[in-house]
Amino acid sequence: MRMSKLFVQTLREFPSDAEVMSHKLLVRAGYIRKLANGVYNYLPLMWRVLKKIENIVREEMDNAGAQELLMPFVQPSELWHESGRWEVYGKELMRLRDRHNREMCLGPTHEEVITSIGREGIRSYKQLPVNLYQIQSKFRDEIRPRFGLLRGREFIMKDAYSFDADEAGLDKSYEVMAQAYRNIFERCGLETKMVQSDSGAIGGSVSHEFMVLVNEEAENNAGENDVFYCTKCGYSANSNHAVSVLNPVETDGKFEKAEIVDTPNAHTIEELAEFLNVPTTVICKSLIYVVDGKYVVALIRGDRAVEETKLMNAFAGNDIRIARNDEIEEIMNASGFNAVAGFIGPKGLQKVEIIADETVKDLKNFVIGCNQNDKHLVGANWGVDVELPVKVADIRLVEENDKCVDCGAELKVTKGIEVGNIFKLGTKYSKAMNATFTDKDGKEKPFIMGCYGIGISRTAAAAVERHHDDHGIKWPLTIAPYTVVIVPVSDQDETQMSVAEDMYNKFIKAGVEAILDDRPERAGVKLKDADLIGIPYRITVGKTIKDGLVEFKTRATEEMETISPEEAVARILAL
Ligand code: ATP
Ligand code: MG
Repeated sequence: MRMSKLFVQTLREFPSDAEVMSHKLLVRAGYIRKLANGVYNYLPLMWRVLKKIENIVREEMDNAGAQELLMPFVQPSELWHESGRWEVYGKELMRLRDRHNREMCLGPTHEEVITSIGREGIRSYKQLPVNLYQIQSKFRDEIRPRFGLLRGREFIMKDAYSFDADEAGLDKSYEVMAQAYRNIFERCGLETKMVQSDSGAIGGSVSHEFMVLVNEEAENNAGENDVFYCTKCGYSANSNHAVSVLNPVETDGKFEKAEIVDTPNAHTIEELAEFLNVPTTVICKSLIYVVDGKYVVALIRGDRAVEETKLMNAFAGNDIRIARNDEIEEIMNASGFNAVAGFIGPKGLQKVEIIADETVKDLKNFVIGCNQNDKHLVGANWGVDVELPVKVADIRLVEENDKCVDCGAELKVTKGIEVGNIFKLGTKYSKAMNATFTDKDGKEKPFIMGCYGIGISRTAAAAVERHHDDHGIKWPLTIAPYTVVIVPVSDQDETQMSVAEDMYNKFIKAGVEAILDDRPERAGVKLKDADLIGIPYRITVGKTIKDGLVEFKTRATEEMETISPEEAVARILAL
């Protein structure tokens, strides 16, 4: 490709609406342009990168025995009614009506469609296992599209779905996919960590995410997930699923008797602890949430935070948020109180469900809200002053320095970008949609299913997050849009141009993806663009060509060498 012909417009400045480096660089280097919020044009350079990732994914999926197909992007609502997700999926699902007023949606994922395909096409256990995948644009009306390709509304995903006759079969399909994923990300030049995760709205039991860790960049960190990992054994999990062993703390408030005391203006746990001169670990917090439209009171020890996904899962919910002040007022009115947040307690509350985190079970002579403003109950004990809720579960956020449940060593936290995930769905969709096969024993059984996603466009952006410097992108060779760029310092210099042309022709003949920067631009502009765009190798043909030498630069390491044009060509051909 001649640079003069390449459809690319690099920008002098970073776009003002971009927060993270991948978004900034992909726009500035001319890879993507925003069309609407969370919707991007993939310009020619970007499309080359995406196709490279797709092809790596294809090869590894095919090697793993999966077969590619393509399902429609628009889906009829009937299938979603069958699975029960039409009601629960929420606003991320882009719903529309056709001219006959039939409800449809833009596919955010394809469990329903694939289950209908399995239902029609697989009759007997003899046909199993089957793994089908597609690479396609998805649409999710994300509440907060941001970070460019990392969280778009329209994005490209590889989604695969496995059908097995039994759990053992699913275990195997799952392990095969886990290995395929390791291969894929390694080939994309991305180090990933496979971490345990929550199964979320898709349901099912076991799931793992593949995370690109991005802790180095503390500022404007693109990692939307907190990953807890053990410093000794292999344990690692998304914070929405992580568990831990707690360090011992003081859990006895040592109040001599239970009584309601004045705690004026003590709205926060810290203020309250200071006022009463007790550690936060002897305070029981009461927090009000709304899970699927119902009020839930969560009790947790004063020093710890609630993990909202865990809390939502404890009620098999699909949606969670903290209650607004007017909602708290409504609960108070219904219960005959008028306390504001900070003074709430579980005793006497009406129209709410109450759940306690495991951390509050062992509290003694503790402090708790009593639904009176500027007052707290101190010296409380479960069963005497307040009832311990029937529902007790682990709903807490793990913290750094908690201990690993597997080996007891310390847990640490880091930020991660989820580039892929694998789920054991089990029979969630096959049962709901009556998708069955005839097993060995002649009985009709629902398929045991798994689903496996990779964000193709997010993977490209994650690669930029991991591989860049102040001057631009440093694409891993395997997913770079071009392998090498040849830059003649002056397009007016005949020798420089003819050496550059000669090298270029050799590359083209050999099938190397090369760019010749033949633009009548200043050398500085050309060299800067090469760095910005991030082509792995740059060959600069300048004055030293008189001595038969060119400059060979490796973008990943910024290493510069002065070698002959022949040697430069040979090095690229050897890649
Ligand atoms: P997230 O927690 O980041 O919203 P998810 O759990 O909703 O992800 P899945 O439904 O499992 O994601 O989708 C599979 C893959 O698709 C993800 O691992 C991710 O790489 C990619 N993906 C999901 N949502 C987006 C998005 N809004 N923009 C770009 N890629 C996405
Ligand atoms: Mg999501």
